Amino acid sequence: MANTEFTCITRKIEVHLHRHGDSDEAALRLKNEYHFWDEINDNLYKAANRIISHCFFNDTYEYRLKLHSPRFQEIEKLLKNAKRNKLTDEEIKELKAERKLLFSDFKKQRYTFLRGGIEDGANPEQNSTYRVVSNEFIDTIPSEVLTNLNQNISSTYKNYTIDVERGLRTIPNYKRGMPVPFSIKKHGVLALRKREDGSIYVAFPKGLEWDLSFGRDRSNNREIVERVLSGTYDVGNSSIQEAKNGKRFLLLVVKIPKEVKILDTSRVVGVDLGVAVPLYAAISDNEYGGMSIGSYDQFIKVRMRMNAQKREMQHNLRHTTNGGHGRKQKLHALERLEGKERNWVHLQNHIFSKSIIEYALQNNAGAIQMERLTGFGHDKNNEVDEGYKFILRYWSFFELQTMIEYKAKAAGIEVRYIDPYHTSQTCSFCGHYEKGQRLNQSKFVCKNPDCVKGKGKQRSDGSFEGINADWNAARNIALSTKIVDRKKK
Ligand SMILES: [Zn+2]
Repeated sequence: MANTEFTCITRKIEVHLHRHGDSDEAALRLKNEYHFWDEINDNLYKAANRIISHCFFNDTYEYRLKLHSPRFQEIEKLLKNAKRNKLTDEEIKELKAERKLLFSDFKKQRYTFLRGGIEDGANPEQNSTYRVVSNEFIDTIPSEVLTNLNQNISSTYKNYTIDVERGLRTIPNYKRGMPVPFSIKKHGVLALRKREDGSIYVAFPKGLEWDLSFGRDRSNNREIVERVLSGTYDVGNSSIQEAKNGKRFLLLVVKIPKEVKILDTSRVVGVDLGVAVPLYAAISDNEYGGMSIGSYDQFIKVRMRMNAQKREMQHNLRHTTNGGHGRKQKLHALERLEGKERNWVHLQNHIFSKSIIEYALQNNAGAIQMERLTGFGHDKNNEVDEGYKFILRYWSFFELQTMIEYKAKAAGIEVRYIDPYHTSQTCSFCGHYEKGQRLNQSKFVCKNPDCVKGKGKQRSDGSFEGINADWNAARNIALSTKIVDRKKK
């Protein structure tokens, strides 16, 4: 069974303005059209910057109304010092009610302002920014382009505001050469068309026809465009962009249906956060294969190098006597190194989590099970096991699990946590638990006399080679039915 979803891809296809015949008239028309195109490019980024600044202005307008209302300020002050002003409950209630009225009045005033004096109408924010730019740019930029630009920037602004608040981003600043948006589909009619001679063009506002030129077409763009024309693929917000070298490109957004595999939820991938290797994965119904991910040797090497660097820096810092600029610089260098360390673990976690998801998809497994980290690596006296000490100190397993969780979710895979108790000391084949079965960090030999698979190959002296201890643990995790809450003790 398959479900349909979409993946959006952007195809970059070179375009030229169409020349309508060989006449002088056609040559003049072409010249004028390129001139018109230049005008758009000269003004579009200005319009874009105008829109984004007015988005901010619209947001602050209400704040300014509050600031300039003496009564509002007075109420705020009274309520703030309600105790000192010896306000009664009744008075507080009345003041709050009055403040609420003022609030709604400011809101109304703002909307009326945004609508240019009109009391009602939908989407006042977007309409007001449109009015601002159309007033200024309608002679140089077609209204269709302005409409698309306004829509794009308004939604960009909405996505940005939260990050801008948090100081994670700055307001975008648009520059010449930004993509020129247009309606690739208007009222269900495609602006991408084919002429009788087979050539394909984009019908741009003001009668401009952009011919698509596929060149050597190594990325198979023609095929994709043909599928758009035949209706197999749908299109999304597209634009035409002029590159620095003067070439112009259609940035065609194509929605390609993606087959979503319905995974087998009874097949589980068990993920062991190992001692010998960072991760070991095993499949619940597979008695042979497993996969190890990452290498602690490499991790320890990088780690040691960073530690040595850090110690040297800290030493230097302590022995900088003159203070001031030199000290500050050294402090910065130390902070940078610490940032690097965090990034490195973060990047490794990204790589590991991606591998786990790929492994699950390749094996058609619909679920991933991991150990709950509470109590993880601790023995029953709540002491940290020797083998885990170094790793627990430096690795963010919690981050790794979080990444696996959200990536799994995106791929339609369920994630479950299990009780970590005895997962590494129990035989995953017969379920036998006995101390000392895990011989060392990498080998496990089952002590149940009747068990065959949990012992590995038999040597000529009668002893057993054992099986990979992390793989055994991963199998136990995959087979476990002791599902627990991730965070609960
Ligand atoms: Zn066994």
